[in-house]
Amino acid sequence: MITDVLIVGAGGAGLMAAIAAKEEGANVLVLTKEYPTRSQTCMAQGGMNAALGNVSEDSVEAHIQNTLKSAHGLADESAVRFMCEEAPKAVEWLDSIGVCFSRTPDAKVAQRKLGGASASRACYAQDYTGLKILHTLYDRCNALEIEMLAEKFLLELVQDDAGTVCGVRVLDIRSGEQEEYYAKSVVLATGGYSRIFGKNSTNSKASSGDGIAVAKKAGAKLLDMEFVQFHPTGLKSSSILISESARGEGGYLLNSKGERFTNELAPRDEVSRAIDAEIKKGEEIFLDIRHLGEEFIEENLPQERKLAKLYENVDPVHELMPIRPVAHYTMGGIEVDSSSKTNLEGLYACGECANHKVHGANRLGGNSLLEIIVFGRQAGTNAAKYGQKRSSFKVNEQSSRVYEFTSSQEHNYDFYALQDEIADLLYEKVGIVRTKSELLEAQQRVLEIKSLLNEMGVRDASQTYNTNLVEFLEFQNKLAVCEVVLESALSRDVSVGAHYIV
Ligand SMILES: Cc1cc2nc3c(=O)[nH]c(=O)nc-3n(C[C@H](O)[C@H](O)[C@H](O)COP(=O)(O)OP(=O)(O)OC[C@H]3O[C@@H](n4cnc5c(N)ncnc54)[C@H](O)[C@@H]3O)c2cc1C
Repeated sequence: MITDVLIVGAGGAGLMAAIAAKEEGANVLVLTKEYPTRSQTCMAQGGMNAALGNVSEDSVEAHIQNTLKSAHGLADESAVRFMCEEAPKAVEWLDSIGVCFSRTPDAKVAQRKLGGASASRACYAQDYTGLKILHTLYDRCNALEIEMLAEKFLLELVQDDAGTVCGVRVLDIRSGEQEEYYAKSVVLATGGYSRIFGKNSTNSKASSGDGIAVAKKAGAKLLDMEFVQFHPTGLKSSSILISESARGEGGYLLNSKGERFTNELAPRDEVSRAIDAEIKKGEEIFLDIRHLGEEFIEENLPQERKLAKLYENVDPVHELMPIRPVAHYTMGGIEVDSSSKTNLEGLYACGECANHKVHGANRLGGNSLLEIIVFGRQAGTNAAKYGQKRSSFKVNEQSSRVYEFTSSQEHNYDFYALQDEIADLLYEKVGIVRTKSELLEAQQRVLEIKSLLNEMGVRDASQTYNTNLVEFLEFQNKLAVCEVVLESALSRDVSVGAHYIV
């Protein structure tokens, strides 16, 4: 059967696109490598921006100007304008389908201030905002009877005789079989690539840039891949995120001497650099929310408290939280136009895997949850409209062939060890502050490792649930993405936003 709209990825962007396509009258299928409700969107804590002015004076224009300033001139103003203008409607719609936003005493949607914002603009559900949004979207998909198939790992795009994308090839993780699904249009919503930084990242292991690597292989254009945002406050030992909401609600950053050393609510690139400079002076850095009091913390930051206790063994009601900046969000991705279409006919993209040119060189906190809703809807609607106009197609035999897994009997190299090596190499040499020679060093090593691919492979020969195979596929995608990140970083000589070169 040929589906009208096939969506790969069931995070906030994918599910939003699915709902929009279905509302447009399309028949929709969603494929994802993990269970939809576990997608990384569920980890988002701090909030989603919309200039509602419920708590402090605000305007859509101020939201636009804050976003453009944070983007350091690399965002497309009309795309930013569209996103910020759509934001109040997006929150109203989420509220109408049941997202349980926290409320002000007069029952309006509550809002908090995040870094780089001139007003309290982020709408939140305690510090479980992404979880509540994702699970409500999932419920909505079920109510609309949208078909979702989990444990399908995207391997390749399938194209028709004219080169138009007409489906995907996946690995069914449960059976180990390869399958093809055909569609009149395909939407990629596979998330970002921060896990190239491995344990030095706040992201879930699934953020391995698969969709970006697959799209690139098929000829899609990528944009701004060098811009990786470092979040100032990952817990020191585990990289688990302590959300910006902790600083938004009044938390301080302190060095070992107990001194505050930066404006805690400056944009993330600036705060991360300030912390990095202190660490290089030998300081340890802490986040302090003790003065907010237990009652306030339990009411507004319950998850942060649980995470700090569980992963760092400190109770932030009474103790300082040791932190360090870690890779958190990838501004780069598959280039799309103002209708969410990629340069490949029949292929759309949305969410963190796409580049809608709204974040430029540095994303404003709270704008990603907004982006996945606004552009998820746009991608789903336009993919459905495209599908309605498309006539029948014939699959290109070349593009529809069994995917060959790189395997080797030799296994001279353990890809897990090399993956960890790359993660630390990137953190050190392609991190908050970069030099040209460090970038070249990292590039050389990544290319060396790539050249060894034929001497590593999958040790587990199981047909079913072969996680070793899935992780090897993710490793190869990460390598492909790393290569582009390094090429892009080396081609930008001037410091801007998250790309700070000395
Ligand atoms: C800890 C944390 C806190 C955050 N807090 C905030 C916040 O407060 N506000 C904000 O605006 N932003 C926040 N963000 C960023 C925001 O959550 C993400 O950018 C956003 O949720 C990404 O959504 P997405 O749908 O694009 O991708 P994801 O939610 O990552 O979903 C990707 C989907 O693609 C699937 N997939 C991936 N590869 C494959 C493959 N090969 N085959 C099949 N399926 C595949 C995955 O299984 C998943 O279903 C936070 C991020 C993190 C990590």
